[in-house]
Amino acid sequence: MSFSPDDTILDSLRDALRGPVLAPGDDGYDAARTVWNARLASRPAAVAQCTGAADVRAAVDIAREHDLPLSVKGGGHSYAGQSAAEGALMVDLSSMTGVRVDPDTKTARGQAGATWGDFDHETQAFGLATPGATVSTVGVAGCTLGGGTGHLARKYGLSLDNLRSADVVMADGSFVHASEDENADLFWGLRGGGGNFGVVTSFEFQLHEVGPEVLAGQILHPMANAAEGLRLYRDVMADAPDALQAYAFFIHVPPIPAIPDEYHGQTALDFVVTYAGDHATGEKVLRPLRSFEDPILDGVRPQAYTALQQTFDEGTPNGQRWYSKAHYLNALPDAAIDTVVEHVDPLPGPFSMVYLEPMGGAIGRVDPTATAFPHREAAYGFHILTGWPDADQDATIMDWTRDFHAAMAPHANGGVYVNLLGADEEYRVASAYGPNYDRLARLKETYDPDNLFRMNHNVEPVT
Ligand SMILES: Cc1cc2nc3c(=O)[nH]c(=O)nc-3n(C[C@H](O)[C@H](O)[C@H](O)COP(=O)(O)OP(=O)(O)OC[C@H]3O[C@@H](n4cnc5c(N)ncnc54)[C@H](O)[C@@H]3O)c2cc1C
Repeated sequence: MSFSPDDTILDSLRDALRGPVLAPGDDGYDAARTVWNARLASRPAAVAQCTGAADVRAAVDIAREHDLPLSVKGGGHSYAGQSAAEGALMVDLSSMTGVRVDPDTKTARGQAGATWGDFDHETQAFGLATPGATVSTVGVAGCTLGGGTGHLARKYGLSLDNLRSADVVMADGSFVHASEDENADLFWGLRGGGGNFGVVTSFEFQLHEVGPEVLAGQILHPMANAAEGLRLYRDVMADAPDALQAYAFFIHVPPIPAIPDEYHGQTALDFVVTYAGDHATGEKVLRPLRSFEDPILDGVRPQAYTALQQTFDEGTPNGQRWYSKAHYLNALPDAAIDTVVEHVDPLPGPFSMVYLEPMGGAIGRVDPTATAFPHREAAYGFHILTGWPDADQDATIMDWTRDFHAAMAPHANGGVYVNLLGADEEYRVASAYGPNYDRLARLKETYDPDNLFRMNHNVEPVT
């Protein structure tokens, strides 16, 4: 169901909100409705640009009273493009970016439109950080509500493991605080259950001493070294300390002067490593990966944590067409490595990438049912992310992505990270929640029985 932007509902929204309410044709409407994945662009009936919890409450009340479809935009980086929906009311939180750090308690409270770049900027002023995504333009909100994996997660846990509390506008318009001590069942559901239970207006995180410089960087190898490189990588990660996070990416080699021309544009294996500890120990821990064969480039060095967090920003720009397919793997046997190496070259689409993301460490020491995020026993996340500019390439590149994903299925454990689901994967929502799905469905019945918050990877209320 969609609503007409000309009717009295727009006036009610404009009367009730402090922030602007934009309809098609208004200045700023197109910028406000834009989400990261251009393939899934939609035209909401109206965009409510909220300035705080009061605006969010007003928008939720009006949506509920008039039975309007409602989407929620934090950082706008959902792979499934769900923060904008055709004919819906978009609750746009993207101007709510304030972050307040308390260096004494090593905590920070951020508004729900903050990106990880906003958050890191404030916390790093105090030499502090919490685990966030590997791209700084990703929203804290959607990322944390689904999980939150990044360079610090093996050492300090997922973003949601570091969430101490949240302020939430519920479907009935009430405003609640959720933590381990207050509304604990809601807090359980927020940590992994996505946007199913309400609109979070602010998040409070535990911080840790990080940086300002960390030993990190990329080690690039030609495809000729890929199979042997992945086997070495698997063996290193099997015994790795929590402080080591090492992604194995496959990317197109960028045309930069530090890399010989002959490799430009070729597919390459790219170890992206971080040691979140003292640099001397890090040098030792990283030695096996750095001394493997003759890399095209070894860019490992002490660098600002905020720079590390922006490593992939340029390579994942807004406005391209993207497609995402993921698995979790419990191990990385030679057969899985061979499947990756056979499929990954050539990599279609100029922005495409494929990567393995080690789990374990602090992520794996949490019980799978302690939060709504269940994938604590997986050894690796595996993600195929294809990106290209032109719609006429959609079919070819999406077919390639699906075929590769299917070829990896025999090596996967059946689970999937909810934040990596595509728009065509609603059938996998139960796999994303595994043993926690039934509890989430009961919570949904308690907090949102009419499924007002359904423009997400939806958990339907049990009836
Ligand atoms: C380039 C790129 C890199 C990424 N890298 C990582 C990574 O390293 N690690 C990782 O874990 N994930 C990563 N992700 C996935 C990312 O965590 C998810 O796409 C996440 O949903 C993005 O959050 P957002 O707020 O930017 O998105 P949005 O599109 O704004 O929100 C996504 C969904 O979350 C819900 N939501 C958002 N804000 C709120 C709120 N305040 N209250 C209630 N519900 C809300 C809504 O259902 C919304 O549809 C990456 C994504 C991209 C595009």
